[in-house]
Amino acid sequence: MGVRRSFRFLLRPTARQAAALAACLEDHRQLYNAALEHRRTAYAKAGVTVGYGEQSGELKHIRGDDPDGQGRWSFSSQQATLRRLDNAFAAFFRRVRDGRTPGFPRFKGQGRFDTVQWPKDGDGCRWDSQPAHPTATYVRLQGIGHVRVHQHRAVKGRVKTIAVKREGRRWYVVLSCDDVPAQPLPATGAVAGIDLGVASLVTTSGGEHVANPRHLAATAERLARAQRDLARKKRGSRRRRKAVARVAAAHAKVRRQRLDGAHKAALALVRAYDMIAHEDLRIAGMTRSASGTIEAPGRNVAAKAGLNRSILDAGWGVFLTILAYKAESAGRELIAVNPANTSRTCARCGHCAKDNRLTQAEFRCVACGHAAHADVNAAANILRAGLALRQASEAA
Ligand SMILES: [Zn+2]
Repeated sequence: MGVRRSFRFLLRPTARQAAALAACLEDHRQLYNAALEHRRTAYAKAGVTVGYGEQSGELKHIRGDDPDGQGRWSFSSQQATLRRLDNAFAAFFRRVRDGRTPGFPRFKGQGRFDTVQWPKDGDGCRWDSQPAHPTATYVRLQGIGHVRVHQHRAVKGRVKTIAVKREGRRWYVVLSCDDVPAQPLPATGAVAGIDLGVASLVTTSGGEHVANPRHLAATAERLARAQRDLARKKRGSRRRRKAVARVAAAHAKVRRQRLDGAHKAALALVRAYDMIAHEDLRIAGMTRSASGTIEAPGRNVAAKAGLNRSILDAGWGVFLTILAYKAESAGRELIAVNPANTSRTCARCGHCAKDNRLTQAEFRCVACGHAAHADVNAAANILRAGLALRQASEAA
């Protein structure tokens, strides 16, 4: 039995290829915006809903009318971009149905569109396009050529989709592979609950704290400064363009550091535990307010609020995604639990009170006197909830 997994490598395009990659991204951005405009006007003027099928049907004409522009790129990659818009609309209507007031899908400004996808290896793209080359790996992309890949590890399974992503000045290729052989790890007999936080990325019910990667806080601080600096620059000015580039580079660095830290933390957890219980972020997201959670104001709040906080927030989703991949591959069990009350319930006696939480770091039960690090106490509650869910599903 195989699993799905993605592999990401740095690209080493020539100057000419880098220019072609930028043009490819720009044309896909324009296509996205044009398709969005089409949907908006059709709806505003005639009350007509335009769907993916209709827009995809027009691609042939768009390409035919612009052979040196849109016509250069892969038909399938353009369909993928139209499907991406379709997904944005589907998400929009889903939120409307849920009674929320989401923002209408937006036009993508320059620098706000950074990925092009080829949905099928061999269709307008080819992974390992020069297999006979003795030392280097290449990926061929229609309209761009054979681009050299810095392949720092082996690719396993069958390459399904290929995507190119721009991060600051760097280009990456992301392969999504099917049928990657799972590599089950031997059972350890140990289980853990994990609490996700800001001071520590992960705290386990056993009392281990896994910090966010070194330097991440410093990079986040640099990003915040770059963004403040950008806000002061005049629109359309040369200095503003430079400031935009600095923000993009800092963003990219934060992402790289976060990814690196998430991989290391997730690997350590799946090696050590047969079952890992964590907070269900989809539920947690609704109860977390800007100043912390509703149930425990101030919890998980970085000393520097605002941007730093949002950067670390976003890191939890990335971390859990990576953890899920690694757990599946290693044959480990991952259980998401409702995070309600996990931070103010006593892990020893079950007494639930706001007063149990003295400070952000300290938990002291007003009923039984149990004292613990607040995150360790929360992780223990998460573990108990996870074990209860597992027992319930085994009994069913
Ligand atoms: Zn207690």
